[in-house]
Amino acid sequence: MKRNEFIKTSLLGLFSMTTLPDLKRLTDSLPQTNHKMPVLFVGHGSPMNAIEDNEFSKAWEKMGATLPKPKVIICISAHWETRGTYVTAMENPKTIHDFGGFPKALFDVQYPAPGSPETAEEVKGEAKKAIIGLDQAWGLDHGCWSVAKRMFPKADVPIIQLSLDYTKDAQWHYEFAKELSILRNKGVLILGSGNMVHNLGLINWNDFNAKMDWAEEANEKFKNLITQNDVQSLISYSKLGKSASLAIPTPEHYLPMLYSLSMKEEKENLSFFNDKTMGPISMTSFQIG
Ligand code: ZN
Repeated sequence: MKRNEFIKTSLLGLFSMTTLPDLKRLTDSLPQTNHKMPVLFVGHGSPMNAIEDNEFSKAWEKMGATLPKPKVIICISAHWETRGTYVTAMENPKTIHDFGGFPKALFDVQYPAPGSPETAEEVKGEAKKAIIGLDQAWGLDHGCWSVAKRMFPKADVPIIQLSLDYTKDAQWHYEFAKELSILRNKGVLILGSGNMVHNLGLINWNDFNAKMDWAEEANEKFKNLITQNDVQSLISYSKLGKSASLAIPTPEHYLPMLYSLSMKEEKENLSFFNDKTMGPISMTSFQIG
């Protein structure tokens, strides 16, 4: 071996023996020093959960009390679909009562949390797949405030909403959402709000909560795929058989789940809560981190 080659080989050996393990230790230790906010996906179900004390709303209260207090919440709600992607950018988003046929007490609810125009700008800046529009007209729909009101009843955490572009497919939404995961490092709580199983057309009007085998089956299927980190199957949900097709007649209540899941680091913990179906709806929710 020539002298130069010997030196090169020795240096490479030295590098792989010492430098690489050091780099690895550094990488492994990052999560401890670089705090990431947890991420939530919440099955919101009936808007009445905003004012009714039940197992779901109580779990939301408990969650709000135990989470590190976020600087800002970004909510991706099933109830704001747009052509193109928008983020609410007003100082004071209004409470939108986007439903009918509920008691006056629900229409009386106001959730006066402030907005965060700065965070809206930041979301716009992080996004690469979409040119995000800054919205001044929306506010907070019930997918957002019914949950936030129970989690953060003082309405003292600024909150913005990100819309769902109905012209894009699930793969696009997953990849787009991932671009925003950096915001977890800045004290932002990502809150996906939908229902992974949601087919109001199949409600049994004589018994809203009547158990439906297909809904149970789809709920288990989605949970298993989430646990196995099988993101690609969840994105290609139209290939998951009959129960999944019945669970997702339209994608808007399912997609917020993919937004939250996209934020998960490979080895991060994910735990389910409110894991229950109510007729053709699953309330199953999860926390990442
Ligand atoms: Zn809904």
